[in-house]
Amino acid sequence: MIAAAHRKEAFARLGETPLDLLVIGGGATGAGILLDAASRGMKALLLEQEDYAWGTSSRSTKLIHGGLRYLKQLEIGLVREVGRERAILHANAPHLVHPEELLLPLIESGSLGKYSTPVGLWMYEKLAGVPKQERFRTLSREETLCAEPLLNQRITKGSAVYREYRTDDARLVTALLATAADLGAESLNYARVESFEYDDAGQINGIKVQDRIDQRTHSIKARNVVNAAGPWCDEVRKIDGPVEGKKLQLTKGVHLVFSHERFPILRSLYFDVPADGRMIFAVRRDACTYLGTTDTLYTTPIGQPRTLAEDADYLLAAANFMFPTLNLSREDILSSWAGLRPLIHEEGKGPSELSRKDEVFQTPSGLISIAGGKLTGYRLMAERVMDMVMASQTGKHGSTYKESGTHQLPLKGGDFESYAAVRQYKKRLLGESRQIDLNLAQVNYLVNTYGTEASVIIERAYALGAMEREGQIEAIERPFLRLLKAELSYSMDFEGVCTLSDFLIRRTGRLYFERPDLEDCYRQIAEWIAEKRSLSDEKRELQINEFEQAYYEVLSFPAEA
Ligand code: FAD
Repeated sequence: MIAAAHRKEAFARLGETPLDLLVIGGGATGAGILLDAASRGMKALLLEQEDYAWGTSSRSTKLIHGGLRYLKQLEIGLVREVGRERAILHANAPHLVHPEELLLPLIESGSLGKYSTPVGLWMYEKLAGVPKQERFRTLSREETLCAEPLLNQRITKGSAVYREYRTDDARLVTALLATAADLGAESLNYARVESFEYDDAGQINGIKVQDRIDQRTHSIKARNVVNAAGPWCDEVRKIDGPVEGKKLQLTKGVHLVFSHERFPILRSLYFDVPADGRMIFAVRRDACTYLGTTDTLYTTPIGQPRTLAEDADYLLAAANFMFPTLNLSREDILSSWAGLRPLIHEEGKGPSELSRKDEVFQTPSGLISIAGGKLTGYRLMAERVMDMVMASQTGKHGSTYKESGTHQLPLKGGDFESYAAVRQYKKRLLGESRQIDLNLAQVNYLVNTYGTEASVIIERAYALGAMEREGQIEAIERPFLRLLKAELSYSMDFEGVCTLSDFLIRRTGRLYFERPDLEDCYRQIAEWIAEKRSLSDEKRELQINEFEQAYYEVLSFPAEA
């Protein structure tokens, strides 16, 4: 990830020699493709028009899951594929992909039957190759109410407990890009691909990209171009020519965040919404519980989707039905996000019926586009796309690239032998970081976010403390702020952070999960960014305004978009 300080020189350098591969779109799909290409020894570059993970890949349910409900739709191949991916992603990034037991309540007139649910789960786990010790179990009514006392006692008949994995989508994208960078691939954010360039035979051989920070346009040559623009996939296809064949159908999904104190579930759940037969998740994450998702057709211009009043009310009603003593209202919401699913249009199908399978298209000019799919399936999607790129390369340029190497490739910060090793590392860091007053929650956060790179951030915090003591820099009153400053400098140097929103929304998720704590520090962070990037007061204020807009939007629910 090219740091803001090196952009100018990077654009100049990238214009000099043709790349093997250029990826458009810095979400999970594009980042996965970049890493796959890098693992095959390709010279590859990814361009993202906004910030990495700015699109759908920071607005999902943040689960690495096999999609239990896809079984009902008989998407057997999809369940097998993504189900098996879960364990691979956990092994490659144990700090970021955590096992999460989900309680599946069986309720009166619900969609889950007493006999069909164990059969469905058995099949799910069989397809996903789940080892014996991790398989589901069923609970009686009494055991269920003991496991989750908040459940609606009137309708609960029993439950099943099964395992999925929880992640942070935007951090996953960051880890993919950072791992690709270690293998020699590069990525640039705030770089919008505006047009394609063609050779005499009409084949794409490059792109024109606008650097959205200094507004200059550059030309970059590449032997292969892959469009991984998610919801914008068709927009990018249109730059190449009229969109033929299958097209996208976007659907919107919303999540609401509450403090765990206000929504104190003992474990994460996946439960029925009897009003429309759908199912939604309530997921516990640190000091919060989040709830989602909705699934509605989205037909307005793409941009940034919003959580509307009806979305919030739908989720609140569903939660209040399943957990009737909570009486949640809009006032209890701490924050929210809304994302767009880039699905493939199928005539006559409703939002929740559309397949989550990915599809790859190639135009006669050589543009390969990928759409659909799941976060969970990014690695296999990448492998498929890159196999296609390789096939089109056979015989050309004397190419002899390797096979994909991502199956057993630890992601940046994820070089732990096991999940137990992550816990040991946290314990060690807690002991080592006494001098800078880190508490357990902070150590957990740092390791879950940065993995083994947490040590680098802690070292930076120590160094800041030493510089303060020697009077080289102004003293920072609160240890928390010193840590934040160390984290920021790391993210600016290694994770492409250019703006306040990049840091507080995509790199750290703080806007969603720690919104109330940001009130008295976001201006200070903007100050540090401006100082490190030598920004004018006007540019700093623009960053603050942009963040304040997001800060306001996550808690305001308009009647219409
Ligand atoms: P995106 O993340 O949207 O990335 C595309 C990027 O392309 C964008 O950042 C955009 O800015 C960029 N771009 C567009 N045009 C250009 C251009 N001209 N130049 C440069 N860049 C450009 N999957 C799961 O596995 N688990 C879940 O729990 C889950 N929950 C979900 C919940 C919701 C509400 C939604 C909406 C989706 C969920 N998904 C989940 C699906 C998953 O999030 C998506 O499949 C995945 O994030 C899509 O990633 P992407 O990279 O294809 O798209």
